[in-house]
Amino acid sequence: MTKIRTRYAPSPTGKMHVGNLRSALYEFLIAKHADGDFMLRIEDTDQERFVEGATEIIYSTLEKAGLKHDEGPDKDGGVGPYVQSERMKTGIYLKYAKELIDKGEAYYCFCDKDRLASLKTEIVEGKEIMIYDKHCLSLSKEDVEKNLAAGLPYVIRQNNPTEGTTTFHDELYGDITVNNSELDDMILIKSDGYPTYNFANVVDDHTMNITHVVRGNEYLSSSPKYTRLYEAFGWQVPVYVHLPLITDENHKKLSKRSGHSSFEDLMEQGFLAEAVVNYIALLGWSPEDNREIFSLEELIKEFDYHRISKSPAVFDMVKLRWMNGEYLKAMDMESFFPMAEPFLKEALGVGFDLKKIAAMVKTRIEVFPDIAGQVDFFKELPSYDVEMYTHKKMKTDKASSLEVLTELLPLLEEQEDYSNDALYQTLLSYVEKKGCKNGFVMWPVRTAVSGRQMTPAGATEIMEILGKEESLKRIRIGIEKLQKES
Ligand code: GLU
Repeated sequence: MTKIRTRYAPSPTGKMHVGNLRSALYEFLIAKHADGDFMLRIEDTDQERFVEGATEIIYSTLEKAGLKHDEGPDKDGGVGPYVQSERMKTGIYLKYAKELIDKGEAYYCFCDKDRLASLKTEIVEGKEIMIYDKHCLSLSKEDVEKNLAAGLPYVIRQNNPTEGTTTFHDELYGDITVNNSELDDMILIKSDGYPTYNFANVVDDHTMNITHVVRGNEYLSSSPKYTRLYEAFGWQVPVYVHLPLITDENHKKLSKRSGHSSFEDLMEQGFLAEAVVNYIALLGWSPEDNREIFSLEELIKEFDYHRISKSPAVFDMVKLRWMNGEYLKAMDMESFFPMAEPFLKEALGVGFDLKKIAAMVKTRIEVFPDIAGQVDFFKELPSYDVEMYTHKKMKTDKASSLEVLTELLPLLEEQEDYSNDALYQTLLSYVEKKGCKNGFVMWPVRTAVSGRQMTPAGATEIMEILGKEESLKRIRIGIEKLQKES
């Protein structure tokens, strides 16, 4: 059996889109599931779209996502170079284009801009495209030689038939047949000597022994032309998996405006790379059971590309946040604290036991930036509504709270030990003496010391962090507030 070889073939044009990361991940998983090779190839032939620094983003994203390539520009596997602009210098694309010319499957085209501008256009998938009229196909060999010798600028075009049909197979979409009359004579070699993406991609996938190609379904409509190239060369077509679109919650194509369209965006928003990778794996693929949490290792084991769905995948931020929260819960404190610390420091500054606070919030946040909203009351008592003291279930109201806080104040003033345990004992003995339920006492105390309806910890844990002075100050403020109301 041939070894499975997949490739991630990004064009260095900016941040790594979630859709691209999904292609990379699926290529990686297909290869690793079958003990095959995963390769990185940089497709930089479109010099106009090249963005400085984009190649570095590709490397750092793959690394953070854990998608280690077996071969690539930095790891030779014997089929390099792995960057298309460098491959071009070896003359490989021109050599194969000439082979097609010899076979009558391609031709030189010397038409200038003005002539091309006068040609008919058609709207294909919302884009206006020019249909080349095969004008230069009729040039004699001598004319071509003459033009080349005179140094006229040229492109090389694919010579597609105008009759008959072309069929290709996609693993998700099945057999797709198109009329050849719909296939334009696309450019293979541009006037700057660079190959087009369309041509380089086919030549490279073949010469680099790629067996499976995963990419977005925006390439589906060009695939018949690729198939014609494979057939013209007599090469075996790779297995195609064209992935469905990823949409936002409003079923619109995930775009920069969505704010979370790239891996970098998600990292900036405080997501964990592992959670993002796990989530993206499920954007179109599902395992046999309903399981959702997978490490990369587990994905490699479970991933079967036949289970990819062709319906559009919705990028659901709520779901990703939930998943990230599950990863945070599962982390041990040794890994969690160093990551949470900068967020805690920013929210609280110095003077707090950040480790203790980190333990409190660990199971309550979904992403690190949630920390601020959970802990900011430690730093400063928020202004709060006195109605918060009224709680039906705890059977408290403003009058009962005033009574409890006023009775507790001298006890808490007397107490020296402000550890959670000691404080809890004090409150419990007060509860016993009063013959009431715990909540009847805990609720007003927690409200007074936090000013919040929801807190990451109970009353006495909060007081331990605040210390004696600050706790008493807050309880006195509570009493004052309640007194004003009575
Ligand atoms: N360079 C193309 C892109 O970045 C690759 C598409 C493919 O995987 O064939 O979209």
